[in-house]
Amino acid sequence: MDKLKYILLFLPLLFLIFTSAAAQQNMEWPHELTEDWTPVDDSVSTTGYFGQAPSDAIMLFDGSDLSNWEAAPGYFINMEEVPEYLKALQTHHGPAPWKVEDGVMTVVPGSGNIMTKMGFTDFHLHIEWKTPSEIDGDGQGRGNSGVFLQGLYEIQVLDSWQNPTYPNGQAGSLYKQKAPMVNASRPPGEWQSYDIFFEAAYFDDTGKLIKPAYVTVLHNGVLIHHKQKFQGPTTFIGPSHYKPHPRKLPIGLQDHGDYVSFRNIWVREL
Ligand code: MG
Repeated sequence: MDKLKYILLFLPLLFLIFTSAAAQQNMEWPHELTEDWTPVDDSVSTTGYFGQAPSDAIMLFDGSDLSNWEAAPGYFINMEEVPEYLKALQTHHGPAPWKVEDGVMTVVPGSGNIMTKMGFTDFHLHIEWKTPSEIDGDGQGRGNSGVFLQGLYEIQVLDSWQNPTYPNGQAGSLYKQKAPMVNASRPPGEWQSYDIFFEAAYFDDTGKLIKPAYVTVLHNGVLIHHKQKFQGPTTFIGPSHYKPHPRKLPIGLQDHGDYVSFRNIWVREL
């Protein structure tokens, strides 16, 4: 009987040893561990939020060409890869490899991510996007792309019209960090809009975090995040935390293997 008592006492200790070892080795976390399946209200319908850019906006894509964009490095999977990625983010990788046709840019699957040539700190980004009208795949494999604020913090782009997945990975989520307050998605093949108000993280000269990054997001004109804090850069595996980075970094768009299109992309610096 005493033996059993000792074994039971020892179990929590074993668990602690195991979890701290896993924390050190981000790679060994199962990627499902950061999925949050708490349901999100799916009843909001909206016609979208479109229109001309304000006169003082910086036009990033007006439908003519990708001259304000270039090829971007592949995204990091976990926090250990961030330092290498940050170096790659500040290196040139050649022209943006996506297709422009009829005033619309579309992901060329397998060609890689793209990013703006300019860097930004605090800004309002307006971007319109569309997933393919023909449904192909499900969950994360259906119309997946992403808007990477400063190349590090993803607002998920996904066909989330009657397409269940973990809500902190659905359209409008701070991917794997925070689900949107409501699902304001429009059907596949229809244009949708994001208005993203981003406040960059601030680090002191020693690299210490002074202020985390915050974001407010309208999806099709509906508020889905209000001054929501990022835990750190967007990771697929394991938890996130801040790593110091430059004040100005580019805005990235993700090639996740799906034919997602974009139009009317502009930014107003704050
Ligand atoms: Mg994505």
